[in-house]
Amino acid sequence: MTDLHRLSIRELAEGLSQAKFSSRELTEHYLKRIAKIDPLVKSYVTVTPEQALAEADAADAALKAGNATALTGIPLAHKDIFCTKGIKTTAGSKILDNFISPYDATVVEKTKAAGLVTLGKVNMDEFAMGSTSESSYVGATSNPWALDHVPGGSSGGSAAAVAADLAPFATGTDTGGSIRQPASFCGLTGLKPTYGRVSRFGIIAYASSLDQAGPMARSAEDCAYLMNVIAGHDAKDSTSVKKEVDDYVANLNGTSVKGLHIGIPKQYFNVAGLDADVKARVEESLKKLEEMGATLVEIDLNMTEAYVPTYYLIAPAEASSNLSRYDGVRYGYRCENPADLMDLYKRSRSEGFGPEVQRRILIGTYALSAGYYDAYYVKAQKVRRLIQQDFLKAFENVDVIAAPSAPTTAYKIGANLSPTEMYLGDIYTLAVNLAGLPAINAPVGFDKDSLPVGLQLIGNYWSESQLLSIIHQYQQNTDWHTKRAAIAEENA
Ligand code: GLN
Repeated sequence: MTDLHRLSIRELAEGLSQAKFSSRELTEHYLKRIAKIDPLVKSYVTVTPEQALAEADAADAALKAGNATALTGIPLAHKDIFCTKGIKTTAGSKILDNFISPYDATVVEKTKAAGLVTLGKVNMDEFAMGSTSESSYVGATSNPWALDHVPGGSSGGSAAAVAADLAPFATGTDTGGSIRQPASFCGLTGLKPTYGRVSRFGIIAYASSLDQAGPMARSAEDCAYLMNVIAGHDAKDSTSVKKEVDDYVANLNGTSVKGLHIGIPKQYFNVAGLDADVKARVEESLKKLEEMGATLVEIDLNMTEAYVPTYYLIAPAEASSNLSRYDGVRYGYRCENPADLMDLYKRSRSEGFGPEVQRRILIGTYALSAGYYDAYYVKAQKVRRLIQQDFLKAFENVDVIAAPSAPTTAYKIGANLSPTEMYLGDIYTLAVNLAGLPAINAPVGFDKDSLPVGLQLIGNYWSESQLLSIIHQYQQNTDWHTKRAAIAEENA
């Protein structure tokens, strides 16, 4: 079969269980595509063919023996921020270039236990700081829709790998938009779960009160399959929540779009810098949902202006603390010939961290310093609470809230946005993390340059099933999620 990469997760699961093809055939098919096409896309940091084929053989044995799970034998890619035992985990940073984790992240452990086959680790912005994946020390990843454009970030490798059909689905993490924005830039569906829904154990920490892992795939249905595997409480992550996990696949038709109240924040559609095509596509998608029976309700989210400054104090503050562990002593990069301990710390860190990471450590350390703690960090935490309350108030009147995922489509590689320009591109995603809410991106069309546009739906706490269900039904009535970039049409 030459078109295995065109099958959905459900079709792959059916094909494997009916022995139409084996996991080895499927895995070899993807490895061949990666070998041929990924040199153009550069989505993988590490490909693990030997391990993948061994896992595939084990999956085939399990399928034969009749002790397979729903997903046994299906390949996936992990963002290089998830610790993988015995395989390099770099988080896109030179400082972790030689880091081989002695354990698996809980998400990885769960995908392995479900019989999924790991194809390799995919590229990302250094320590997940960025919106283009260009800050990775291994270099930029290309957007499959236009190779001279970025795939978004920080989970740009995950998005590019799936959009080029170099993995059927992938894991990502989202601290301020890193699942939703690259999904938007690459025409994919990506879900950022409620904070606490998925274990953070073994995910290299960026900003611990905001970080959350989730699925990136072609459709809500494909995302639901991966959510069924990765969601749930984990004793190793004290912020993961002891709450029953929904069956996201079984619930795909569980929410009625008819009668659904979708909030449209006035402030969101008046943001300077909101691209006209993005606005038009998002409005068309809302019109479609209206035709399907939803009611659009104009709402106020008055704290919109505070999102970017609040996030860009809290996230760097937590990063400056989390990244203090990279000192050249315990693991990771160490400078050559240090003169003394201070020199070892200083040079290992200035040689090991890239410029964006250093900028954030500086901002964060400043915000946490004794003299400025109240004026910046404490104040940002208070504003964070107001942002959360703004959402809770809105959810008294609406079921979900609609927004673009990003004000623009993908940028050109090397566009060299200033830090503040780049930060402003996160306007639609940051508040969700500050409030700990779930949100989903779905593809809803293209701009004048044929680059994908994404719609974001934000839900109340623990409404992952509802978000997946709404988008699933939208996708039953539209075909944007089935569109493929030209490079994905190529055969290996
Ligand atoms: N672009 C945002 C940042 O640079 C969000 C990144 C993320 O979600 N990891 O911090």
